[in-house]
Amino acid sequence: KPVLAIESSCDETAVAIIDADGTLLANQVSTQIDFHARFGGVVPEIASRKHVEVIVGVVDAALEEAAEALGLEGGALSPKELAAVGVTQGPGLVGALVVGVAFAKGFAYAAGKPLICVNHLEGHLYANLLTTPDLKPPFIFTLVSGGHTMLVHVRAWGDYEVLGETLDDAVGEAFDKVAKALGLGYPGGPIISRLAEDGNPKAIDFPRALNRKGDYRFSLSGLKTAVMLYIEQENKAGRPIHLPDLAASFEAAVFDVQYKKARNALRETGAKEYCIGGGVAANPHLRDMMVRKLSRQGIRVTVPPQNACTDNAAMIAVVAREKFLKGEFSDFSIDADPNMTL
Ligand code: ATP
Ligand code: MG
Ligand code: FE
Repeated sequence: KPVLAIESSCDETAVAIIDADGTLLANQVSTQIDFHARFGGVVPEIASRKHVEVIVGVVDAALEEAAEALGLEGGALSPKELAAVGVTQGPGLVGALVVGVAFAKGFAYAAGKPLICVNHLEGHLYANLLTTPDLKPPFIFTLVSGGHTMLVHVRAWGDYEVLGETLDDAVGEAFDKVAKALGLGYPGGPIISRLAEDGNPKAIDFPRALNRKGDYRFSLSGLKTAVMLYIEQENKAGRPIHLPDLAASFEAAVFDVQYKKARNALRETGAKEYCIGGGVAANPHLRDMMVRKLSRQGIRVTVPPQNACTDNAAMIAVVAREKFLKGEFSDFSIDADPNMTL
């Protein structure tokens, strides 16, 4: 029987349904970006309230999509036909998480189904199974999202050795802040990435922080400051800023460091597989660079589907299905946990 999963950790209300054999039957995402964009970032209270408003509609849409995928009569899959209900427990905005967790509990309780709590960060990792079902530890995993930047040695499923994290901004956060400084809008990642297509990555020499072998920590705030200073300096000199060159050079500085640290971690651990996840993993330049450079060194590189990098419930459903197969259910007294880590 299929597992239904709910994701509401930030500003996407998402519901997915995955069949017993791992086939994705439904994948619905309702994004609130338009409601937050005018504020230049996610406003937590607005996020919670929007989740409350739309969650029933998104669940219904997923049940209908699954019925269609299964060729069922009657328009929608019945909750009675589910094996379990999965939900993101954390990390994320507490008010946003609470909406998903409370809804999932009520929904599972009413249908008489077990509840399965999922770590959002594990979701970003497991999104790789959507493209590569035979991905197998040990491997190196890079998580680059709006709230996290982590280099992880996955020794076995569930056995995570975090090699390094960011000391300040997350990579996605740096993209968002640079775009904001340029008045380009929110979220910044997709905007910068589009601009960078027509830019020269060598045009501006931005700093690469903590770029020493054996150091797996990241720091993005120096780069962010360097970009701000560059903008200020060009404005003062009355020179127009060439946005594509700036975007491409910024990306190059971020991704160079990501590549080198991932490569060093692969060499040090001897792992032969690499994968990536989180919203920034949707970036085509990052994806292409990792595939191109690491494949040449005999590493198998996996990337999630592009639409399963930013927040979605398909990745939560993949984790929930794995937990269901292992009989790892959650108590109905669990609470949202905004500070969960890997
Ligand atoms: P976390 O997963 O750490 O809790 P989050 O869920 O808010 O944080 P994600 O949805 O995983 O973050 O990722 C959102 C981030 O991804 C944003 O910062 C956004 O700018 C960035 N992003 C999205 N698309 C791209 C892209 N093409 N290039 C670079 N960054 C991108
Ligand atoms: Mg989001
Ligand atoms: Fe996320």
